[in-house]
Amino acid sequence: MVQKNEFWSIWDLQKQNKQPVTIERKKTFNKKISDARQKAKEAFCFHCKEEVASFCNSHSIPSFCLKTIAKEGKLLMTNAFMNVQILDKEKGVKQTGTFQLICKACDNTVFSEYETPINYELKPTQQMLTQIALKNFLQHISRKKQEIALFESLSTEDTRDDPYIYNNLETKQFDLKIYTDKYNKAKQNLLNDHEVYKCLYFQTLPYICPVAFQDNVTICLDLHDKIINNIYTPTHLNDTTSIHISIFPLKTSTAILIFLHRSEFSEYKTFFKTFWKKNLEEQLEILNFIIFAYSENVYMSPLLPAEVLENQELIDIVRPVAPTFFPNKKQIQQDFKIALKETFSFSNMKRIPNLLSEKYKLKNFKEMG
Ligand SMILES: [Zn+2]
Repeated sequence: MVQKNEFWSIWDLQKQNKQPVTIERKKTFNKKISDARQKAKEAFCFHCKEEVASFCNSHSIPSFCLKTIAKEGKLLMTNAFMNVQILDKEKGVKQTGTFQLICKACDNTVFSEYETPINYELKPTQQMLTQIALKNFLQHISRKKQEIALFESLSTEDTRDDPYIYNNLETKQFDLKIYTDKYNKAKQNLLNDHEVYKCLYFQTLPYICPVAFQDNVTICLDLHDKIINNIYTPTHLNDTTSIHISIFPLKTSTAILIFLHRSEFSEYKTFFKTFWKKNLEEQLEILNFIIFAYSENVYMSPLLPAEVLENQELIDIVRPVAPTFFPNKKQIQQDFKIALKETFSFSNMKRIPNLLSEKYKLKNFKEMG
């Protein structure tokens, strides 16, 4: 289960070929990505299975929270840290975190309860949790479909025999199956509304964080560096457990929500027993570390001070996670524990600025600006 955007890894692979970054190569690369997106598209809405002429540009995170933190309608992507030349650092609210997999009718109806800001004044309902889970899985399914199409197109060229391409394609197909299974469970619960999702944390901060987030993340290590999920197994085809995290900046506050499917709680029990005992500041530090280390679906306000974006420790944490960095399977086996620790140990969390702390609340920057 590789979590961050594989497009970065492919770029990394291309860099290994030691070819200079030319405008021509950027164009070719962008064409590959857009072809993959086209190829991954189907004629039917993934959710209602109705035939569609055009897909909805679904947001993987509600646009109301993006608008809250935007500056002149723009938001920063995690590539603001990465500086990958071919990818955007900044995007408009309408283009941020979008995917095309379902029809407009589904997009307008299925997610309405969780996409209503006032609903965060009380503890989120089971229906809201189900809608968030559904959205997270759809977003991952859309991405996996694109990545598969992209890897398939790459594997027909000069990289055909590259074990990296071959292994990744296999992993992606496995991940797509896992996400589809999880999506189907969530879809079933839209109707059933059973208590299948367990809310582990709901907190409203009395200020606006400069960060918006929504994703399903597979946590690898607990707070004492014990393995919860090993994503670097030799085959990569391992089933994993994950939690849903939402950080929604609202008009004057920020709602933070963590939940999971009940069947996956046992893996996270120890983690949350420790987490619940921490004070608010430490809990926010942990969450801040998780969103940057584990996901790229972090959208930030351009009002953030430059020193945050230039913070080397944070840049290192944001770096994409992929077994690309391991030359062969044998080495993965030997080094996976070290690699997991290097990437995911919470002992690193105090080294990075905590963008969820009051210190970075949005009002501060707006006043300064
Ligand atoms: Zn539909």
